[in-house]
Amino acid sequence: MSYRVTPLLLGDAVVPDVLDVFWSLTKARGASSVPILAFLVEGTPDGPLLIDTGMRSAERAQEVHGLGPHRVADDQTIPAQLARHGYAPEDIKYCHLTHLHYDHAGGCNLLPNARFVLQRTELMAAAAPMGPEQLEIGGKGLFFDRADVADLVDPLWSRVDLMEGDYEPYPGIRCVLYANSHTPGHQCIYVETADGVVAIIGDIARKLDLNIEREILPGIYYDLDSMRRALIDIKSKADVILPTHDWNVLPGGKPEDAA
Ligand SMILES: [Zn+2]
Repeated sequence: MSYRVTPLLLGDAVVPDVLDVFWSLTKARGASSVPILAFLVEGTPDGPLLIDTGMRSAERAQEVHGLGPHRVADDQTIPAQLARHGYAPEDIKYCHLTHLHYDHAGGCNLLPNARFVLQRTELMAAAAPMGPEQLEIGGKGLFFDRADVADLVDPLWSRVDLMEGDYEPYPGIRCVLYANSHTPGHQCIYVETADGVVAIIGDIARKLDLNIEREILPGIYYDLDSMRRALIDIKSKADVILPTHDWNVLPGGKPEDAA
């Protein structure tokens, strides 16, 4: 089977560079513009899949998580981005979530017909995050938004499919659990395409040059060795690696009017 993977730009933000590199004892002291992406996978018998859903709102993201300015332009909403490819939110029957951080799981309530497929351990971790009360970045919720969790466990619950590890929703599409990497139940989606195996890796790497090419681990992980092994495994399996927050993933790169 051969599928097609397309990034959707669902907003941007200015966030601290310390998120990109293992240990904060580095020279990464500034802040940089990052995209917030989701991915459309076309070619399944059930229509297009959506991988991740962006943030609930830019205002809420800024308020809750202690990061910099966030923004969603009018043409960066889920309906607007789907429309560019000829789809409506109603057309999405399956949405696979890499993990439940606020910038990946905030738009689930915009998909009226979708089933949400994620790892059970991720929902458990998101419901009772281990953040200390006074943490400056990430807060007590450790980047999980309680409103997103509340949506999944109540109004959307009948449409949530909790997975217990690796699964293959279609021939040529594989979802692999990397436990205790960026989050406790983070999964990556490997898709066979005309360009080879494309890996949609959520936030296991943030920057292709730093984290993939130079093999410097990023700054957010639950278990260092699990994170390191996840990156090695991704590099061994994928021909094309697509993180969520690297402008190089977009065909045109960073737009001129980006944050
Ligand atoms: Zn993210």
